[in-house]
Amino acid sequence: MIPRPFELHSPSTLSEATSLLKNVDDSKALAGGQSLVPLMKLRLVSPANIVDLGKIPGLSYIREGKNRLVIGSMTTHNEVASSPVINKRCETLSEAASKIGDQQVRNRGTIGGTICHADPAGDVPAAVVALDAEFKVVGHHHRRVIKARDFFEDIFTTSLGRDEILTEVRVPVLSPRSGGAYLKLGRGASDLATVGVAAVVTLDNAGACKDARLGLAGVGSTPIRATRAEDVLKGQTPSDDLVAEAGEKASEMSNPSSDIRGSAEYKREMVKVYVRRAIRQSLARI
Ligand SMILES: Cc1cc2nc3c(=O)[nH]c(=O)nc-3n(C[C@H](O)[C@H](O)[C@H](O)COP(=O)(O)OP(=O)(O)OC[C@H]3O[C@@H](n4cnc5c(N)ncnc54)[C@H](O)[C@@H]3O)c2cc1C
Repeated sequence: MIPRPFELHSPSTLSEATSLLKNVDDSKALAGGQSLVPLMKLRLVSPANIVDLGKIPGLSYIREGKNRLVIGSMTTHNEVASSPVINKRCETLSEAASKIGDQQVRNRGTIGGTICHADPAGDVPAAVVALDAEFKVVGHHHRRVIKARDFFEDIFTTSLGRDEILTEVRVPVLSPRSGGAYLKLGRGASDLATVGVAAVVTLDNAGACKDARLGLAGVGSTPIRATRAEDVLKGQTPSDDLVAEAGEKASEMSNPSSDIRGSAEYKREMVKVYVRRAIRQSLARI
């Protein structure tokens, strides 16, 4: 289908873009267009004004700081997935980005776009929740930092204000003796997660679990932080029984709906399986 007519604005600065979003009625930011454009073509959304972020310089970068990785919001999924720095320091994020859609989607879609789109079945949202990431946001005459856990409010709904643009994703570097993974059950290439699990596990020198973080995709109205499953592991030496118990707790915290990807019951079972696998994979990488 063809979208309803709209006016395209191509600001060359962030301040121009935030001014447009604040002052022009019914306006929406455009990043890679891999979610917004299909929705417009289906006429599920029809903004009168599109504010293209693509001409604003300086929003695409990957930097390694002492304590965190810093990623510009217009960095594409393929750039994240193929970055040696991210792959070395944060496999959970590079795996999540690598499992999005297909090459074309990953070449156009951006890390900022998938976070702001807030699809609860999105791969990167579950990863950034598990990674305790923070988002730098710029509005008209203000800027602020939002923690990933405070960002996702409901299906396709975030705590971003109307004039706010996500400009940077900040991911804390993992502690020594940490491993991570993102595992996804999908229906083949180019589909959102039926169930996705992002995991990070840190062991102490004695082999006990110092920290565990788990993010679930596709099984609730937002990405879910499976804290009760994390608590099962913390302070304990990981064993098969403990890992299985963590899977059970994560499944209890999930709240999936039955849809074309499977019944709620099936998805709850798959949470158990994928949480177990993601924890084991993380442990194997330490
Ligand atoms: C065929 C296909 C398969 C896909 N498969 C998957 C998949 O397997 N897993 C998955 O997770 N996703 C999948 N996607 C979605 C894909 O990840 C998109 O890239 C992503 O959801 C949106 O990123 P974008 O840069 O294209 O954003 P856009 O589509 O441009 O924007 C999406 C939304 O975010 C807002 N927005 C964008 N950037 C910003 C910003 N910096 N600040 C404020 N608001 C902003 C826009 O206003 C819009 O509401 C798929 C898409 C397609 C078309």
